[in-house]
Amino acid sequence: MLTMKEFIFPAIPTRVLFGCGTLSKVGAEIERLGHSKAMVLSTPFQAKDAEALAEKLGGLCVGTFTEAAMHTPVEITEAALVAFKGAKADCVVSLGGGSTIGLGKAIAVRTDVDQIVIPTTYAGSEMTDILGETSDGQKTTRRDPAIRPETVIYDSDLTLSLPLEMTMTSALNAIAHVVEGLYAPDRNPIITLMAKEAMQAFKAGLPVLMTDSQNLEARRQTQYAGWLCSTVLGYVSMALHHKLCHTLGGGFNTPHADTHAILLPHTAGFNAAAVPELLQPVTDIFGDTAGGGLWDFAQQINAPLRLKDLGLSEADLDKAAEMATQNPYDNPREFNRDDIRQLLQNAWEGIRPAV
Ligand code: NAD
Repeated sequence: MLTMKEFIFPAIPTRVLFGCGTLSKVGAEIERLGHSKAMVLSTPFQAKDAEALAEKLGGLCVGTFTEAAMHTPVEITEAALVAFKGAKADCVVSLGGGSTIGLGKAIAVRTDVDQIVIPTTYAGSEMTDILGETSDGQKTTRRDPAIRPETVIYDSDLTLSLPLEMTMTSALNAIAHVVEGLYAPDRNPIITLMAKEAMQAFKAGLPVLMTDSQNLEARRQTQYAGWLCSTVLGYVSMALHHKLCHTLGGGFNTPHADTHAILLPHTAGFNAAAVPELLQPVTDIFGDTAGGGLWDFAQQINAPLRLKDLGLSEADLDKAAEMATQNPYDNPREFNRDDIRQLLQNAWEGIRPAV
């Protein structure tokens, strides 16, 4: 008989539309929220897409701001706020990956306006109440209900243009959310279900995209997996893996998705040694061990495997190990500076984890 422990399942109020061609529903969603003056946000790279969307929205859109950047720099948020207020906008439409979604959240938390988010990577910011911002080279992260977007529109057509390398690293970034969800102290049975489903969908979809990046069915499957991963991230707290990624990203400016992709097999293997039963779904889906299986999968999909290739030196690893162990951090396995230094060394060299 199933022994069910106590758990809490807080509902996430975000409205989700999933499909292909759903970009056409943005106007109706703006009106549904009671608004009529949207500002469309993007990075410079996706500016043309933002402008095309603004044109389609016609009278429902009062402008675009296309300067979103990685790690949500406060100076850019301030410039966006000037544009937002100047245009008398009443909501934001964030079209893009985690950088653009971060800018929308930063505007919303300062003005209390509604957000409609159209994610085009698998990074997974859209379903969360988390915002990380940088000011004077320091990244600070906070959680607040006002940060969580009101509406998320997944349109798998928009992921067809995601370059293959970014597709793979962004997917591993997403998988990291559910791997940590499996051992999160505030997890519940639905989190575990979503985690398994997400890993299976990525495992099925990503190898197809390797040889056929325009396969819409595989794009749909992987975006569905991305939604599940983002939802898990929106529900539970993260541990060692995310801490190390923030340390490297914030302290050494390593690229977000690549850092997650490279570290994941190592952090999963490290924790699997302490809680193998909680990480059993990872082993079942990816291979003989949690860390080894994830490393093999990353290799299969041509994802980067070595921190060395991100420009980090061994002296940087010393500093990173120090930074990541300065304050105690919730994790299923206890660790000290030497443990983390060794883990980083293995990831730097690209050694396949044994566990
Ligand atoms: P990103 O948003 O910076 O996107 C990377 C590049 O890819 C950008 O130039 C972007 O315009 C482009 N791009 C995005 N989608 C594309 C597509 N479909 N086709 C072509 N180009 C496309 O990268 P990311 O990895 O999505 O996001 C990383 C940021 O998100 C980091 O700052 C990270 O901290 C944040 N993040 C936050 C949370 C949260 O819950 N707060 C969660 C995950 C990530």
